[in-house]
Amino acid sequence: MLGLMQDQPLLISSLIEFAERHHGDAEIVSRRVEGDIHRTTWRQVAARSRQVANALEDEQLLFSDRVATLAWNGYRHLELYYGVSGSGRVLHTINPRLHPDQIAWIANHAEDQILCFDLSFLPLVQAVHAKCTTIRKWIALCDADKLPADTGVPNLVSYEAWMGQRSDVYPWPSFDENSASSMCYTSGTTGNPKAALYSHRSTLLHAYAAALPDVMCISARDSVLPVVPMFHVNAWGIPYSAALVGAKVVFPGPALDGKSVYDLIEAEKVTFAAGVPTVWQMLLGHLQANGLKFSSLKRTVIGGSACPPAMIHAFQELYGVDVLHAWGMTEMSPLGTLCTLKNKHLAQSPEQQTAIRMKQGRAIFGVDMKIVDGNGEELPWDGKAYGDLLVKGPWVVKEYFKGEGGNPLDTDAEGRGWFPTGDVATIDADGFLQITDRSKDVIKSGGEWISSIDIENIAVAHPAIAMAACIGVFHPKWDERPIVAVVKKPGGEVSRDELLAFYQGKTAKWQIPDDVVFVEAIPIGATGKILKTKLRELLRDYKLPGV
Ligand code: AMP
Repeated sequence: MLGLMQDQPLLISSLIEFAERHHGDAEIVSRRVEGDIHRTTWRQVAARSRQVANALEDEQLLFSDRVATLAWNGYRHLELYYGVSGSGRVLHTINPRLHPDQIAWIANHAEDQILCFDLSFLPLVQAVHAKCTTIRKWIALCDADKLPADTGVPNLVSYEAWMGQRSDVYPWPSFDENSASSMCYTSGTTGNPKAALYSHRSTLLHAYAAALPDVMCISARDSVLPVVPMFHVNAWGIPYSAALVGAKVVFPGPALDGKSVYDLIEAEKVTFAAGVPTVWQMLLGHLQANGLKFSSLKRTVIGGSACPPAMIHAFQELYGVDVLHAWGMTEMSPLGTLCTLKNKHLAQSPEQQTAIRMKQGRAIFGVDMKIVDGNGEELPWDGKAYGDLLVKGPWVVKEYFKGEGGNPLDTDAEGRGWFPTGDVATIDADGFLQITDRSKDVIKSGGEWISSIDIENIAVAHPAIAMAACIGVFHPKWDERPIVAVVKKPGGEVSRDELLAFYQGKTAKWQIPDDVVFVEAIPIGATGKILKTKLRELLRDYKLPGV
């Protein structure tokens, strides 16, 4: 017997319809590439996304055809999120920080038909357009009178000229909720990039889950600042969850420096912000240098790479902002775990609570996870045993676009497919996950594993250190030993021996790095993560002292 409830597919268009009808006057504020602050509402975004949909119909784009973006966080990007996916096409957000050749490769692989870009990326478009063989129209996200002449890019129009005159009457089509809605390529540190292809169903379920109190806890009372880019895993789903709850949204555009972000937080009374540690480092640096405080910010979700305890501490103790440490990945839409305490933890001491907050958190309903040893045997949840982390759930990939890379899933005895994350982790008895490392970054010293994240966290807890990256280097006896590359804070003074002494008592003696390398900068990849491959290349001639 089937249930007798209405059979209504979970479609992205329903989010924007809801936001328009129930939260029509909630604001969408954007710092534009042009430099000014632009204000609109969910009602206007809904109307303009229907105009986008009508423009796509006129382009004769078919169901599931790909429309790409090279754009910062802003209202026009948001209109494309809804206009493209809502009308049944697939929004392909491209990371503009990738190498131009990689961008062209990705656009061709995705068979993008149209590419919409912020004017700041015009030089990039000029460099790649001739190599992008499937794109038949280029759309600059600007007013008609801002479109430069003689760009050399064929079939280039301004966004406003393209969609501005269309009707805003458009009945959103209904179709299978499992249809593709958007896609994002992984950074592809090995081999070619592979794309996660999200569906309407996976996006909506993720949007519900992300807004839950123990997840991002977003509501109609929030003013939400996604500093995480809309070009990487849909800004952690915030553009969807914000519509689902009717939150005010504040987009930072291209200005991600500490001052610009701080000014926006204060001006727009932002209550909740999401970012990666490298960007938050700039924000904290600005606050510290200028003796500033937040007047409205209550919570921030930090993820994408391990959030150092020193950062959690600074937000919490110095600025009264709750840090929600999160873990996820492109293949998971991206949220997997988020760190909030349980009822029983409320009676614990502040120190015990802090120790929990440092972890990456608990699984969100919808995500199942386990850690396994080298033979695929599940390891206990005791907070000590570490192994390869596997996940499954309705917003986790089952395969990559075009079957690239074959079947990625590990099948268990019951025939269920688990996605191997490539991360190494522990899980404690309360289900709190702690990421030890990427499996390829973990340092194997004399058969024992050393977490590079732990070594980095200790270094950045030193007041003179701004950033740290730990890698393993060859050792004739131990196979590998850790060294730590560090960037000093402006005016920060610390010697090699002082920093090594700082490790005493903070980690097991044999885990203390063998050496410190002072560097001007640590290479950062397109998604804000430390590029260890590049660092290893830079230090390839490095030899351990005395070896
Ligand atoms: P991406 O697919 O580019 O978003 O990268 C996903 C990877 O980033 C994960 O597999 C982890 O290795 C890493 N990552 C994400 N969040 C965290 C976190 N909170 N702590 C440690 N590593 C993280």
